[in-house]
Amino acid sequence: MRIVLVGPPGAGKGTQAAYLAKNLSVPHISTGDLFRANISQGTELGKQAKAFMDAGNLVPDEVTIAMALERMSQPDAVNGFLLDGFPRNVSQAEALDEALKREGLKLDAVLDLEVPEDEVVKRIAGRRICRNESAHVFHVTYSPPEVPGVCDHCGGELYQRDDDSEETVRTRLEVYHTQTEPIIDHYRAQGLVVTISALGKVTEVTERAMRALQGDQAA
Ligand SMILES: [Zn+2]
Repeated sequence: MRIVLVGPPGAGKGTQAAYLAKNLSVPHISTGDLFRANISQGTELGKQAKAFMDAGNLVPDEVTIAMALERMSQPDAVNGFLLDGFPRNVSQAEALDEALKREGLKLDAVLDLEVPEDEVVKRIAGRRICRNESAHVFHVTYSPPEVPGVCDHCGGELYQRDDDSEETVRTRLEVYHTQTEPIIDHYRAQGLVVTISALGKVTEVTERAMRALQGDQAA
């Protein structure tokens, strides 16, 4: 199956992408991983991306598209892939459509993870990270530490990253609405969009997604 995963920040997209890719036996292709891999391997595209990032600029669509297409042409992606973080705007979606068409391929589904906006803010703004170890993550409501502000694992001080502040979350949601949501309409016109609720336990959301994708394919 060739799937694009979309959803606002805080929808648990990365986590779901990893589980779904495993269940579907297709590679999970995330733009974050693509950037890191191309840069660490010193590829031509990686060098171009790094130059933009070092200058504090966004990596242009052409570079991102080229990296994603190159990754999708690898042998392990012959039977499908799950894209996470790409396409993130309509022009990337159009480039993807054209590239797949050239290969005689098409997407099977665009899985849209839906989360109410207030829930997104609650999920992200409630995160607290340990100063000693960034893997020690808590949430003021969903997984609170035993003692407020103190890490259960190592006693370290818990803090809120700047990226997780409510103001930053609202800005990221705004970017999502203006840049990424239009791709849902773009794919809806192609009959590809499958929307599911991303509320509940991680495993419940994965099961919901699998049912929706399988139902969609059978239909
Ligand atoms: Zn800790």
